[in-house]
Amino acid sequence: MERSTAAYVNHASTAGEGSWRLGSLTRQSTSSDGFLGEIFTSFQGEGPLLGRRQVFVRLSGCSLGCIYCDTGAYLRRTDSCRLETAPGSRRFVEIRNPLSVDLVIECVKLHAAPEVHSVSITGGEPLEQPGFTETLAGELKSLGMTVYLETNGCSFDMFSRIAEHIDIAAIDVKLPGTVRCSAAQCESLVENELACIRLASENGIYTIAKIVVLPETAEHELERICREMPSVDAIVIQPVSGQSVSELKLLALQGIAARHLGADRAMVIPQMHKALGMM
Ligand code: SF4
Repeated sequence: MERSTAAYVNHASTAGEGSWRLGSLTRQSTSSDGFLGEIFTSFQGEGPLLGRRQVFVRLSGCSLGCIYCDTGAYLRRTDSCRLETAPGSRRFVEIRNPLSVDLVIECVKLHAAPEVHSVSITGGEPLEQPGFTETLAGELKSLGMTVYLETNGCSFDMFSRIAEHIDIAAIDVKLPGTVRCSAAQCESLVENELACIRLASENGIYTIAKIVVLPETAEHELERICREMPSVDAIVIQPVSGQSVSELKLLALQGIAARHLGADRAMVIPQMHKALGMM
């Protein structure tokens, strides 16, 4: 029988303020509820876990302003979240935000299957909702699921709260000129990102450092980051989507990463989900 979220949402449209029933779950808003954008099944489209099937839990809301952001619809906290009604069906129901961890877990369970590699908590920015992300990651982990966190690493303090629940962390390092902020803010952001990477690496989390590069990215910018980068399992040079970063430039940038972190860990991987037209 096709598993479906329909049973959980058929009361949502008649929901009143503050409390509404979702199937067997009664939802009460609490401070640890989360603002989500969508939950669905697809394939990881970036980095060394490319092609692994995942359940994506996308939170809404991110304060950074990356010039290449591809999740513009989820930069603000959304009024509602769309839940895929069955794995890969691309049929969705809308649920008003915020959502309880229990409800999100029930939805993830409906998508869980032996062919699923892990649950990706992504955004928006998960660290901007630390209470919710911490509880969600802990619950997923206690259910035996592999937890993959995708984060911009904006807060070491927030990351350290949830690190114990994370199996795989894909942490961005934002190069100068890729975020709309002052030089001092960019410097602080990089410090936090590198601190998150260090903590993840030291705690046995499979750690991926992701660096989006532009056609104009200067080699010395990457050199500086790589000099300060702790040991990682993978450093991914990701050419920005929609622009042409030359092969020569990518060879030079990968060379820098390889010299500092090892040729087996330094890789160039574009965003494949866009190339394949997937979510
Ligand atoms: S951190 Fe991610 S979600 Fe936030 S603005 Fe940058 S690319 Fe977009």
